[in-house]
Amino acid sequence: MKISEIHEKKKNVLSFEIFPPKKTEELENIDETLAILCELDPDFISVTFGAGGSANHNKTIEIARKIKYDYGVEPVVHLTCLSYDKSEIDSFVKTLNEEGIENVLALRGDRNPKVPEKDEFRHASDLTAYLKETTDLCIAGACYPECHPESPDRVSEMRYLRKKVKAGAQVLLSQLFFDNDYFYRFVEDCRIAGIYVPVTPGIMPVINAAQIKRMVTLCGASLPERFEKIIHKYETRKEALFDAGMSYAISQIIDLLANDVDGIHLYTMNNPVVARKICEGIRNII
Ligand code: FAD
Repeated sequence: MKISEIHEKKKNVLSFEIFPPKKTEELENIDETLAILCELDPDFISVTFGAGGSANHNKTIEIARKIKYDYGVEPVVHLTCLSYDKSEIDSFVKTLNEEGIENVLALRGDRNPKVPEKDEFRHASDLTAYLKETTDLCIAGACYPECHPESPDRVSEMRYLRKKVKAGAQVLLSQLFFDNDYFYRFVEDCRIAGIYVPVTPGIMPVINAAQIKRMVTLCGASLPERFEKIIHKYETRKEALFDAGMSYAISQIIDLLANDVDGIHLYTMNNPVVARKICEGIRNII
């Protein structure tokens, strides 16, 4: 089923994000992770795609196929475009069609000096327009409540986001953030700009101080002072930080749901224990 239809049918759509493991033995164990994640009954699971290289893409599609046919959950395949041309995108789409996969998250992808860029798709909106014109896929897009790190200002960011939606993005999945106020302001700006598609907040539970510092540097999300204090206080005590990180994420989600957001997109980091704990914490709320 297309995720746009899922959004039409229900409020509070729950989704997970996973990545294809790099190591072969972890890939072999992906079933254990998927079994637990799917038991938690998400509305869809999205699978990331490393920029450049068809081997990466094959892993993404292999996992998406498992999610759909072995576990009966709707998959969303991430698809980056900066290092591909139209014929390569056509070939990915052909595979998606053969596998019966109906949803993609159309992305530009991060710039990587090791991966040469091509000219046909400069922005996610170029890929979105191309997919809209040539396929019947449901297309989701990424959005950034605290602005994309390359954006000059919030107005340009909103202008380009509107372009992406006009090009065909039917659902927006957000970058992670730790201060819900950024998200509320962002959704308000979207509506003022005439963007009316579902905008789903992305939540990443913090269980490891090094991981969060890396993520924050990479994606530009700010850490509220009260959360920074929590991380600082417990960063040397693994179990304590786990409990504190779970509680923080759960309280963020409860606040978002109380404010009638369109759904919750959980960055699981392939950790089913984390996903289960979060789902238990909101079982009677979502
Ligand atoms: P775009 O929408 O193209 O935006 C990128 C920048 O260009 C922004 O600053 C935007 O304002 C600007 N821009 C957009 N259109 C124009 C225009 N017409 N003219 C000038 N400037 C413009 N990366 C991966 O490699 N693999 C993944 O699987 C992956 N999954 C992700 C999932 C989510 C939910 C999110 C939020 C991000 C994900 N990313 C992934 C990261 C993403 O690829 C990077 O953030 C990337 O830098 C931007 O991709 P985008 O699709 O948002 O690009």
